[in-house]
Amino acid sequence: MELSVAFTFLIFVGLSTAAMWGYEDSGPSKWAETFPTCGDKSQSPINIEASDSTLQASLGNMTMTGYDTPVALTIKNNGHTAQVDVTGDQYISKGGLSEQYKLVQFHFHWGSDDMKGSEHQLNSKTFPMEVHFVHYKNSLGSLGNSVGEKDGLAVLGFMFEISDSDNANYADLISKLSNITAYNTSNLVNLTNTALMKFIPSKPTNFFRYSGSLTTPSCNEVVVWTVFTETIKISKTQMATFRSLMSSETGPKNEHYHIKDNFRPVQPLHSRSVFNNFYSSSATTAYITVYTGVLSLILSTILSH
Ligand SMILES: [Zn+2]
Repeated sequence: MELSVAFTFLIFVGLSTAAMWGYEDSGPSKWAETFPTCGDKSQSPINIEASDSTLQASLGNMTMTGYDTPVALTIKNNGHTAQVDVTGDQYISKGGLSEQYKLVQFHFHWGSDDMKGSEHQLNSKTFPMEVHFVHYKNSLGSLGNSVGEKDGLAVLGFMFEISDSDNANYADLISKLSNITAYNTSNLVNLTNTALMKFIPSKPTNFFRYSGSLTTPSCNEVVVWTVFTETIKISKTQMATFRSLMSSETGPKNEHYHIKDNFRPVQPLHSRSVFNNFYSSSATTAYITVYTGVLSLILSTILSH
C-alpha cells in the first residue's frame, strides 16, 4: 500500500516534471510560474551591446586544458536539446575566473530557421545556433554541488554562422543525430573520440563576461558567462539536421513536437555590467570626435578673423 502510493507519486512527479517546462505550450513566458527564480533580476541570456560593455584588460585570455586531447563522448536527446556528455579531464581557468572549472557537457540551442536560434544576441544580432560548454567549479566537486553556489558554473557560449560548405569537424556529431531522433535520455550514442577543440572556433580569444543564470528552469543565478565573438561555421544542410530531433513536449493530440526554437528570449540586464577583454568602448572615440570637432571649429573661427 505504502509502496504503491509512493510509486504512483513517483510516476506523477516524473511525468509532471517532464511536462513542466519547454518551448511550446509551457514556454519561457510561463517558467516563472513554476520556477520563481526564472523571474529574478540576473537572468540569462541577454543582448550584449558591445558599446555598452566595459573593457577589463585584467581579464586576459582564458586557458583551456585538455581540450586538445581526443576523449570519449556520448550524445543524447534529453527532450529539450542534443547534449554531449564528456567524461574526460577538460578544464578552463584564467580569463578572470577565480579558479579552475571542469567541463561536464555541451549542448545546443537552435531556431526553426536560420534567422534565429541563439540565446545571446550580439548588438541585437541573432545567430542560427549557439553551443554552451558547461563547467562546474572544480573545488565544489560536482555539478550537483555547484548549481546552488554563486559562480558555481562557468559556461562558454559560441555562436554559429552559416557557411557554404559543411563543417567537417561536426560531421560525426551531426550524422549521429539520426540515432537520437526520439526523446530518450537513456539512449546514449557514442561519438568518435574527438578533441573538444574541434567543436569550437580555432583560438577563441575575444569574449564578453557577465554574471547570469541557467537559461532553462530552474534558472539558477550561478553562472559566470563567457560569450565569445569568434563563430563556428556550419552549412544550411547541417543546421537543418538538428531540427529533425523530437521534443519531450506533446501537442493536443499527444503528438511530439520537433525540437525547434529551443532558445530563451533575451532577459533584462537590470543593474548588471558586461565586461570584455578586447574592445575599448566607443565613449573614447566619441570624446575624441567631439573634441576634434570643437577644436576645428575654434581654429576656423580664429582663421576667419
Ligand atoms: Zn544552454
